[in-house]
Amino acid sequence: MNDTIIQISYLGSAVLFIVGLKMLSSAKTAARGNMIAAFGMLVAIVATLLKQGVLGWEWIVGGVAVGGAIGAVAALRVKMTSMPEMVALLNGSGGLASALVAGAELLAYAGRGEAPVGVVPTAIVLSTLIGGVTLTGSLIAFLKLAEKMPGQPITYPGQQVVNALIAVGILALGVMVATSPLELDPFWALAGAALLLGILLVIPIGGADMPVVISLLNSYSGLAACATGFVLNNSGLVISGSLVGASGIILTKIMCDAMNRSIGNVLFGAFGAAPEGGAGGGGQDQGAVKGYTPDDAAVIFSNARSCIIVPGYGMAVAQAQHAVRELADLLEEKGITTRFAIHPVAGRMPGHMNVLLAEADVSYDKLIEMDHINPEFPETDVALVLGANDVVNPSARSDESSPIYGMPILDVDRAQHVFVIKRSMNPGFAGIQNPLFFNENTMMVFGDAKGTVLALVDAVREY
Ligand code: NDP
Repeated sequence: MNDTIIQISYLGSAVLFIVGLKMLSSAKTAARGNMIAAFGMLVAIVATLLKQGVLGWEWIVGGVAVGGAIGAVAALRVKMTSMPEMVALLNGSGGLASALVAGAELLAYAGRGEAPVGVVPTAIVLSTLIGGVTLTGSLIAFLKLAEKMPGQPITYPGQQVVNALIAVGILALGVMVATSPLELDPFWALAGAALLLGILLVIPIGGADMPVVISLLNSYSGLAACATGFVLNNSGLVISGSLVGASGIILTKIMCDAMNRSIGNVLFGAFGAAPEGGAGGGGQDQGAVKGYTPDDAAVIFSNARSCIIVPGYGMAVAQAQHAVRELADLLEEKGITTRFAIHPVAGRMPGHMNVLLAEADVSYDKLIEMDHINPEFPETDVALVLGANDVVNPSARSDESSPIYGMPILDVDRAQHVFVIKRSMNPGFAGIQNPLFFNENTMMVFGDAKGTVLALVDAVREY
């Protein structure tokens, strides 16, 4: 009877995960979907602990309270701009947990002097391997995103050969662990090699490719959990791990398509490296930029009929989403058709711009995806680039030496007038200069995104 209830709980939590995932695909229902999936996870955790009979209720409640409190404090304190770092740490924790559980199971078998059978030894190998790679790979991704280590690819001669040799070593160790699981030395060596491989695989991946790496590591954390599900013979963990693994792979594919890259090229191409002897992508002297004030911009707006606003990471940093909505509403009131162009990798996490603009109650039908809005730029009077840089860099289209060459961009340079609001001439995440800023039709309005947009609102209102 007890077992039936537990299996039904697993089924129920799987249904809640799937419903939650479905709801996450739209910004309107995402928050509720997240709560539903989190509830499904609570059901699965409690069912698992009861099934294993390893702990009493007091430990379950205590664990949920302590873990929940740490998660709640971290979630409340993290800034919106630091979400990608938090996601990287969460992925890494998932990998660590899977590897620890698999290792603990193996040690428990060894303690009993009883060798694991069936799929369990292979699952222990996979869980340790994928979990270890996910942990250290995510830590490197975290350090790169938090700018605690250089975002540029770290490469050295023979790098692929070294990685390939480690992979072959891991394969040999994996076979040893799977065939003689009670010999613990190969297991420790496997765990160490997996941790090393995670570091070595992520250091050569450059700044602009981090969206792909984060979603791939997210998928790995799910696959590690799925393997651990086989170690524990726990269907709840197998289902939830496969859902995370599959959705992470789908997101990775979407991110690769957004960057116009293959996954192999991302992992082994050291993309994002600045070419030898220069900043790359237009780092050389490109002439003077034209600095304008919000009052100057208001004059141009007063004669415009259409405007496309292109938000980027700077809007998130400045928390300018409410100010920009005010501007969009005002422009509409003045008869200027105003829409937002959304680049799939704008900001620092998938859907970053959609989330911020939804928070500011910008209507969804105003948010237009890159492929649909690009043909409209030549007919547009004003493109307003708000804290975006890499996603509007025309060298991605034309400069084969640029490290972001081939990445699809928003064609703002084809609009009649381009305003760029940012604080300085500093580059964006990919670390390269942007020739857009030097174009004839581009006007730079230097300043913090929020303050400048509010000043622009005043200037347009008064004009
Ligand atoms: P970028 O990082 O290219 O540029 C952001 C610009 O915003 C900077 O040039 C900066 O210039 C400006 N800025 C920063 N703070 C402010 C502020 N307070 N007010 C005004 N401007 C500000 O951003 P994009 O959105 O164009 O491109 C995203 C990049 O991040 C891509 O390279 C993408 O690959 C990468 N990435 C994306 C992820 C995702 O999932 N979306 C994840 C990880 C990386 P200044 O300092 O002069 O103000």
